[in-house]
Amino acid sequence: MQSANKQYINGEWVEALSRNRIDLINPATEEVLTSISFGDQKDAYLAIDAAAEAFKTWSKTTPYYRAEILKKAANYLRENLDKIAHDMVLESGKPLLEARGEWTVAANLIEWYAEEGKRAYGKVIPTNRIDKRSSVILQPMGVIGIITAWNFPSYNPARAWAAALAAGCTVVAKPSENTPLSAYHLTNAFITAGLPAGVLNLLIADAAPVGEAMLDDSRVKKISFTGSTRVGKILMDGASHTHTKLSLELGGNAPVIIFDDVEVDAIAKAASIARFRNNGQVCVAPQRFYIHKNIYDQFTEAVTKYVAQLKVGSGFEDGVNVGPLITSKQRDSVYELLAKTKAENATILTGGHQPSHLDKGYFMQPAVVANLNQSSVLAQNEIFGPILPVFSFDDLEDALAKANDTEYGLAAYAFTNNLNTAIKVSEGLEFGIIGINEWAAHGTELPFGGWKYSGQGHESGSEGLYEYMEKKLISIGGLS
Ligand code: ADP
Repeated sequence: MQSANKQYINGEWVEALSRNRIDLINPATEEVLTSISFGDQKDAYLAIDAAAEAFKTWSKTTPYYRAEILKKAANYLRENLDKIAHDMVLESGKPLLEARGEWTVAANLIEWYAEEGKRAYGKVIPTNRIDKRSSVILQPMGVIGIITAWNFPSYNPARAWAAALAAGCTVVAKPSENTPLSAYHLTNAFITAGLPAGVLNLLIADAAPVGEAMLDDSRVKKISFTGSTRVGKILMDGASHTHTKLSLELGGNAPVIIFDDVEVDAIAKAASIARFRNNGQVCVAPQRFYIHKNIYDQFTEAVTKYVAQLKVGSGFEDGVNVGPLITSKQRDSVYELLAKTKAENATILTGGHQPSHLDKGYFMQPAVVANLNQSSVLAQNEIFGPILPVFSFDDLEDALAKANDTEYGLAAYAFTNNLNTAIKVSEGLEFGIIGINEWAAHGTELPFGGWKYSGQGHESGSEGLYEYMEKKLISIGGLS
């Protein structure tokens, strides 16, 4: 099935009304990959029209019917894994192994929501009157606007699209223009699976006017957004006028607290991989490393050794751990943060420069930075790039105070072999996701959501499904 890099509206691949096209750049080579249709607000309103019309019938289908379509879409992704993973590497730069893994998780997630849609149970509530019966049912909300970021080109949209579709909602999706190829493939998966026209509409388009259209049109009942805290605030401002509901997965600045009762070398080695997954461009990426003062030198030396061994290059090269950053803008912002830390007299122990064997592409040799304090730009900002800053702490209380000293509240990690410490640290951290002795504290079946400036609502798990359903109390009185 061909997308010809167009918009998908009301069951057809179409050019944007403006006929506008933009270039898609390969971040590893800086070459133009292809041209893509680039829509605007007019296309958004057409997509909303289609989704509103399709909602009338899609919302009346059974979750069993919807599940069959979702499962076929998941299988399409598995059957086309080689091609779709290849295209994800081209547009995002991430290593092929990571791209294959991401598509596999996306397929599993769609399948999981196919089944979870069947379990949108309501409840019957006993009342205090003999002549009355009360129950709560869940119903699909309506048209959902889904805006997603480029860092997980298939996982981000798949997570929201699958939950909304399984719930019986229809979708107007606006993924990032940096990674449209994955969005086309994901759309094709649902088309091939037999999704009726209008149920899913895809816009690769000018973000701000599309966001405004979603806010402005009262047929869009919710906007599900994955991206920066900056844009999340713009949507919150808009929604305060229009009453549009929001689910927001925003930025993070995850602390990693490493106590002095662990195997330091093994954790340093694992940290060197976990920190640089997807080049650090991950909202739950372990970012601020707080190391107990007794093991600070040992950890810092070990992690520097392992980070220096990471292989940087094209995502297609065997054994590459770290690809390019997504755009020149993102590359510049990470280099700028590093320049600021130099001005703070921090010490760059390894990396932080263009790799000598690569003269093109938005690369940075992974960096370890020490000699930092809590006021450093690396403590106070989301880095979204390949820098691992190390800080030290004295005791549990000090660690918690430093870890919580951020406006973000998405993920946090701690490593200890002491049960008492593990419980106290997990209860004391002001974050929505806590990993104890693990780096991947998330999963299809688990609720994913942030505290503080990191967002509102949840994705994944049954919570992710309920985000797209309204609760309705039905009270029947006058019974004899
Ligand atoms: P990132 O820095 O990760 O790209 P952004 O928040 O800039 O995060 O982008 C996430 C998504 O939000 C992308 O699809 C982008 O096009 C979209 N976006 C950017 N600005 C706006 C806006 N003003 N309104 C709605 N969506 C926006």
